[in-house]
Amino acid sequence: MPELPEVETTCRGIEPHVLGRRIGSVTVRDSRLRWPVPEDLAARVVGHTVRTLSRRAKYLLMGFDHGVLLMHLGMSGSLRIVKEGLPPRTHDHVDLCMDTGTCLRLHDPRRFGAVLWIEGPPDRHPLLARLGPEPLEEAFHADYLFRSTRKRRVAIKQHIMNSHVVVGVGNIYASEALFIAGIRPGRAAGRVTRADCDRLTGAIRQVLVEAIQQGGTTLRDFVHEDGSHGYFQQSLRVYGRAGQACLSCKCTVKQLIQGNRSSFYCPTCQR
Ligand SMILES: [Zn+2]
Repeated sequence: MPELPEVETTCRGIEPHVLGRRIGSVTVRDSRLRWPVPEDLAARVVGHTVRTLSRRAKYLLMGFDHGVLLMHLGMSGSLRIVKEGLPPRTHDHVDLCMDTGTCLRLHDPRRFGAVLWIEGPPDRHPLLARLGPEPLEEAFHADYLFRSTRKRRVAIKQHIMNSHVVVGVGNIYASEALFIAGIRPGRAAGRVTRADCDRLTGAIRQVLVEAIQQGGTTLRDFVHEDGSHGYFQQSLRVYGRAGQACLSCKCTVKQLIQGNRSSFYCPTCQR
């Protein structure tokens, strides 16, 4: 599943091919994504220039003078830059072709992705309005996280995976960050200290930035017409290592199921 680092890398990868370009044509081969692709998508964007390109949580926002095209990669989506006229593969559902002859092509086998048109400020759109701060921006800091955890009985791992608290911290990143910060995933959020929050905000940033940096090496895939864009292979510190020795203390890594998701932790390094 594409996580925040993949979406960030996608945003950076497509930017040189999309930003400042005018849309020449739109092809929708299958509009049945998570929500239907607007029938009038072509009428809305053809002839208009892409003024901004940004990411909010795992949404890509392509800004025009008269509105914003919101894209989400869902469970299995990816975006590639291809030359206009390249025959589509199965599951290549949407093409946005620039008047330069390059196309942004959405591939999404499971069709949980989205392509939606937004008029008005995107941060007031129902999908975006209630999102918490970006983990890599200044609004996400130790004091903020500490305040958000007070009197909360929910486990700290579930707390940091809640997009109203902070966006883009998926299951693997949450496990990895809690390991770095030395906090057990099952500890009640209300029982983390201010110092814990200091380490945890730093650890969340660290795992995301590392993933984005690793993803930078896959940037070329966005312009490889035959290369399919895979998701990042992370080097993991604790996730998926149940029964193996902790990389830090050699104790046995344990596994825990929280809200149907697996968590992994070292009972010695994490308290
Ligand atoms: Zn350990």
